[in-house]
Amino acid sequence: MKRLVLLGGGHAHLFVLEAFAREQPEAVVSLITPDALTPYSGMMPGVIAGHYDYRQACIDLAPLAARAGCALRLDAAVSLDAAQRQIRLASGEVIDYDLLSIDTGSTPRIPDLPGADTCGHPVKPIGQLLDSWHTARAARSAAVVGAGAAGVEIIMALHHRQPRMRCTLVDRAPCLLDGLPVRLQRRVIAELVRQRIEVVTDARVSGIDGDALRLEDGRSIPSQFTVWATGAAPPAWLRGSGLALDERGFIATGPTLQSLSHPEVFAAGDVATMIDAPRPKSGVFAVRAGPPLAANLLRAARRDTLQPWTPQTRALLLLACGRRHAIASRGGWSLQGDWVWRWKDRIDRAFMRRFDL
Ligand SMILES: Cc1cc2nc3c(=O)[nH]c(=O)nc-3n(C[C@H](O)[C@H](O)[C@H](O)COP(=O)(O)OP(=O)(O)OC[C@H]3O[C@@H](n4cnc5c(N)ncnc54)[C@H](O)[C@@H]3O)c2cc1C
Repeated sequence: MKRLVLLGGGHAHLFVLEAFAREQPEAVVSLITPDALTPYSGMMPGVIAGHYDYRQACIDLAPLAARAGCALRLDAAVSLDAAQRQIRLASGEVIDYDLLSIDTGSTPRIPDLPGADTCGHPVKPIGQLLDSWHTARAARSAAVVGAGAAGVEIIMALHHRQPRMRCTLVDRAPCLLDGLPVRLQRRVIAELVRQRIEVVTDARVSGIDGDALRLEDGRSIPSQFTVWATGAAPPAWLRGSGLALDERGFIATGPTLQSLSHPEVFAAGDVATMIDAPRPKSGVFAVRAGPPLAANLLRAARRDTLQPWTPQTRALLLLACGRRHAIASRGGWSLQGDWVWRWKDRIDRAFMRRFDL
């Protein structure tokens, strides 16, 4: 029997476990991931805002793995040798595979500044960010660096939780939500103004301590709780793996979700880039990749021909605004309201129910 290793309990692998429960692959399957509870990012700003507790926003991989007949190993890859088909784990163990599927997500990009790692908190792992926030609840000021969708949601969630805390959103780009539709940007700016959240754009952070962020132009921004939401970087352990990577260091895959250099390796979610159809690093696209990944792993295990897949070009973006209010955007249109939050809440809860055994 082939040895099929699922590395990482990310969004795409949830669908793989679901599919394997319906149809057992012709392989011995194991899932390697550091924690049995995997956070669902769509609900995390709601956890910070106090609408959900952490456990409500996590999926327990143990029953999903058991139902799929898959051995769960709580550990993390620290290196991969694609030529030898071996994964080295944090525990020191070395795992051999015949087929490998990687869905380990991205790692946060932390600025290379003195104090960046001790005085600031990366947005991932989300569990750690929440722990840091719980110990910093007395903070009188907070800043989020990085005004992408996650940064915008987090600053509004922090403000909702501590309305008297001075909140600032900082980005080096001249506008918020760079690259996203202008109508969405306008709605978000109006919402930030309404909530009296300060926005500082065109700003490069040059230093940080426990009380403030310093900018290159000499300004200082009060922040006793700083979150780095500065974008997704590839995991460092991919660098020496021998796998073909894109120009940023993510695994380069083709339309069958196979590595361009090693066809026995599949990858999906933030960790991978489909070279002919690149998409933003977001949970929506990781979720969409799940069913085609599962189908191709089943085919690969029985040596069938694999099927190509093209991800959709546009996705619905639902941005939570701290309070029970949200903004929806797809292509050129956008909407907002309390009802949009309830709609998002229904979608998120339905997703969680699907994987709650
Ligand atoms: C605060 C926040 C809010 C967000 N909100 C949204 C949103 O509303 N909508 C949206 O589409 N996207 C959102 N995103 C982006 C979204 O979180 C990611 O794009 C998505 O989680 C990627 O899914 P994934 O399957 O690639 O990996 P992940 O969900 O990151 O899962 C990776 C898994 O791999 C495991 N793992 C990590 N390293 C290793 C290792 N070395 N060995 C083994 N296992 C490992 C992890 O423990 C985890 O279980 C948000 C992100 C953040 C930070």
